[in-house]
Amino acid sequence: MAEPAAPDYQSLAMFTDRLRRTQAELAGQGVDWLAVGPSADLRYLLGSEGHLSERLSLLLLPREGDPAYVVAGLEAPLLEPLRDLLEIHPWEETQDPAAIVAAVVRAGPGGDAPTVAVADELLGVFLLRLQAALPAATWREGGLLLRPLRAVKDGREVELLREAARRTDAAWEAFIARALSGQTERQALARLLELTHATGLEPGFGHCSSGPFTASPHYAGGDRMIGPGDVVVFDWGGRLEGYHSDVTRTVVVGEPEPEFVRAYEAVLAANEAALQAVAPGVACETIDLAARAVLEDAGYEAYILHRVGHGLGLSVHEEPYLVTGNAQQLQSGMVFSDEPGVYLPGRWGIRIEDAVLCTDTGGERLNEAPRELTRMG
Ligand code: ZN
Ligand code: ZN
Ligand code: ZN
Repeated sequence: MAEPAAPDYQSLAMFTDRLRRTQAELAGQGVDWLAVGPSADLRYLLGSEGHLSERLSLLLLPREGDPAYVVAGLEAPLLEPLRDLLEIHPWEETQDPAAIVAAVVRAGPGGDAPTVAVADELLGVFLLRLQAALPAATWREGGLLLRPLRAVKDGREVELLREAARRTDAAWEAFIARALSGQTERQALARLLELTHATGLEPGFGHCSSGPFTASPHYAGGDRMIGPGDVVVFDWGGRLEGYHSDVTRTVVVGEPEPEFVRAYEAVLAANEAALQAVAPGVACETIDLAARAVLEDAGYEAYILHRVGHGLGLSVHEEPYLVTGNAQQLQSGMVFSDEPGVYLPGRWGIRIEDAVLCTDTGGERLNEAPRELTRMG
């Protein structure tokens, strides 16, 4: 059996700081406890995503005092590197973990009737069991505390997102050097993901659509053979220490129809307009509207199916969401996608997506893979 990893004291200081900032938010919002299961939120707070399974595994962060972690006994050794941060409560196979959680909570702030915030990705089945074990508790959305903290990246997080984007761009440059024609969507995507992993990124996600399927933004890819005249869309990414890249490029095999070239130029201009609108204090919806205005002027109003972007970090989709109606203001340190698109049913779709960092002076693209229309063989 492998030795437990030695604690990384530099990281422990970082996670201690994140836990304290979260506790300050809990106290400020009148919440007694935050409950976080295995998820990106857990990775943000402790540096580990935890092990998601049918066995309850839960971080319990009180508004003051030491955090507790309730975990199946067989998984307790995995938490050894974090023992300086956490009071660990292992449960045995014959015990009811919800009763152990209830005992830990009752002994802390709020007593028998605490206000408990629950992180976004805690499974419903666990929440139901916790609610039964703590009948007098009041339940809240933990995301209201955690989403704003995670949305603003620190220097280290920006460095990881920048490097993940750079490696994904490098994979794309290698990918477009070879022909696409004669491969299925799945085969083409497999080659792109292989090149992405070869840069040292951990697996992320990937979609490839071709021909009329490109008009469906979340079509994942299948056995359609790519051939001359096809539009092909790749939307993919990898992860570096948990931080995602997320890029989309649209290419054409051989010569495109004139209408496609016109629409492509409009999407490219919309991508640039969104980037130019980025600055601290600007409302998220302003970025969406900037991209929309360009597409509407070009006559594609009816073919815009989605918001212009989403935050990017330990999750592929997180706050801030750049969507009409969202008045949330951008802050320096936020990282999000800039991904306008148009989708003409039965014909083709076009999307161009980069990650963008909001800096004190405006938007900075993290992706620099070629954006001009790429014609492939
Ligand atoms: Zn999407
Ligand atoms: Zn994407
Ligand atoms: Zn995206």
